[in-house]
Amino acid sequence: MRRLAAAAVGGFEIILRQAQIKCMLEIRSWPQAIWRGFRCKCPACGQGQIFYKYLKVVDQCPNCGEDLHYQRADDAPPYLTIMAVGHIIVPALFIVERLWKPAVWVHMAIWLPLTLILTLALLPMFKGAVVGLQWALRMHGFGLSGAFHSDQ
Ligand SMILES: [Zn+2]
Repeated sequence: MRRLAAAAVGGFEIILRQAQIKCMLEIRSWPQAIWRGFRCKCPACGQGQIFYKYLKVVDQCPNCGEDLHYQRADDAPPYLTIMAVGHIIVPALFIVERLWKPAVWVHMAIWLPLTLILTLALLPMFKGAVVGLQWALRMHGFGLSGAFHSDQ
């Protein structure tokens, strides 16, 4: 009975090791993963949606089953969003001021809603891109991702 159990454990270890090796040999393109994430799609297949709410990442891709719960985007998406929105809005504001010198209320009526809309639109895109980069670089457990989906 012990020999049988030991053989079963040994067989399982071999299968697990083969799956891990296959997973580590899989080439992941980081530009492609970032682009897929930026489009709010799964970095592995590019088809499944990665958000089930505005910024809530699904545990697994609904299309390919890739584990996405390893993501740790943290503060990177807001940082990138603030940087991008600032680099769009501030120069545009200065250009409009320089060319037409509108009243302050006109500036407020244009730039405040535009800033809000751009921020809310870009935030999930940058979060998806960060998740895609983490997936491609096998960060936070993404390296083990797919080890048990070897038949795909
Ligand atoms: Zn997928």
